[in-house]
Amino acid sequence: MHKDLKILIDIHHLDLGLANHEKQCRSIPLEIQKIDDQVAEFRSKINNIREIIKANEKKIKMDEAMIEDHRQQQGKYRAQLFKLKSNREYQALNNEIKQLDDKISELETEILELFEDSDNKRKALRRMEKDVEQKIAESEEERKKLTQDLDREKDAYARAEKARNQLVDDLDSEISERYLKLMKKKGSGVADIIAGNCGGCFMKVRPQIAALVRGNDQLIPCEKCGRFLYWSEESSF
Ligand SMILES: [Zn+2]
Repeated sequence: MHKDLKILIDIHHLDLGLANHEKQCRSIPLEIQKIDDQVAEFRSKINNIREIIKANEKKIKMDEAMIEDHRQQQGKYRAQLFKLKSNREYQALNNEIKQLDDKISELETEILELFEDSDNKRKALRRMEKDVEQKIAESEEERKKLTQDLDREKDAYARAEKARNQLVDDLDSEISERYLKLMKKKGSGVADIIAGNCGGCFMKVRPQIAALVRGNDQLIPCEKCGRFLYWSEESSF
């Protein structure tokens, strides 16, 4: 095989590997981010429930304070009742006391509802916390694995890149420039012949050209795309 053609094919394969490692290096962090988002979502759901329980407690305290105020007011009214002379005044004040009873009763009902709601939320919270703990543990496991994968990919990329650059240096500079230009423009600089077509641009390769390529002992560019053609195990006319 032509020395430079052999190097070009090796570079080509390393470039395919590099593209793959690069893709992984881009996609793995996105997967890690997805896991982090999921964990954050779990935590935020739990925090929301905690906030509701806290707000319930606050509201209960306010309601209790208001009941206390109403009771004190009622006590004052009751003390005044005996001092009143007219029946009308007595009725009016008695009504005030009754209205405060209604308000107290409403507040007590609300407090019961709030207690019940908090109770239910605490139960849900306990269930969720268990579930979330497990999910977080699983996520951390998955995250660790992905981080290792990412490190491996970065490593493999660096090694392949080094090997590739060394090969590029081994090439005749005119050929390496052509290859790099093709890579930049078309994404690949080398193609094998598949069923009589260029494996890069898929245009028909003339039989005379294909016959020359078959020996792999010359550098022959595709007449359409300019990629260096070679004959692989999968090649055929
Ligand atoms: Zn071509």
